[in-house]
Amino acid sequence: MELSVATIRDRISNISQQIESWSRSSVDLVVVTKTHSSEVVRNVAAAGARVIGENYAQEVREKAAAIDDIRSSGVDVQFIGQLQTNKVRLLAGLVDCIASVDRASLVDEIAKRMPNTRLHLQVNTTGEANKGGCLPEALPQLIERSIERGLVVEGLMTVGPTSADEQTTREAFRQVKELASTFGLAVRNYGMSGDLRIAVEEGSTMVRIGSAILGARN
Ligand SMILES: *Cc1c(COP(=O)(O)O)cnc(C)c1O
Repeated sequence: MELSVATIRDRISNISQQIESWSRSSVDLVVVTKTHSSEVVRNVAAAGARVIGENYAQEVREKAAAIDDIRSSGVDVQFIGQLQTNKVRLLAGLVDCIASVDRASLVDEIAKRMPNTRLHLQVNTTGEANKGGCLPEALPQLIERSIERGLVVEGLMTVGPTSADEQTTREAFRQVKELASTFGLAVRNYGMSGDLRIAVEEGSTMVRIGSAILGARN
């Protein structure tokens, strides 16, 4: 049994109320539908979500019909997963924004296959391996390259440290907030189910929530 529209709507409303209790600024909510069925994707849109997040290029193709439909009704589809250059073509026509861009070769391929796409550049401030994201030092060149190629750099994205104490997580988000300000980028895309409160308190303008709304993944 898939989650009903009513249940999803309740959970979105609860999360939104929590966010409002932690921050006076408005925070956009990306509902992460990775590993969930096309039916769940449709239900999430029917429940009022404005943005959904997906992680796997192949899965985006498999759910293309549902994704087409929700995009026509105005839902924004954001790609948030680590992306191999040769998979970019799979996303063309199905994704509005890519939030996991962390290297020049990926910028070039997106510009070629998906002109004018909106980007959030992913930054890794903690140096953890096995995690996407460029070093902060790489940002100026990546920003310049993206703009030169006609892509729209809206902001920065980061994935919080995986097993860190609260202070380390706070510090990581704070650094990304400062970097966004340094480069004049409005979107600060950070915060997931496990670190939502810290992210919101540290100035996130966009959070990506999966399990806290849709439950455990398959
Ligand atoms: C899966 C995923 C999320 C959502 O994670 P939850 O813990 O389920 O909220 C957010 N961002 C990225 C990059 C993810 O891969």
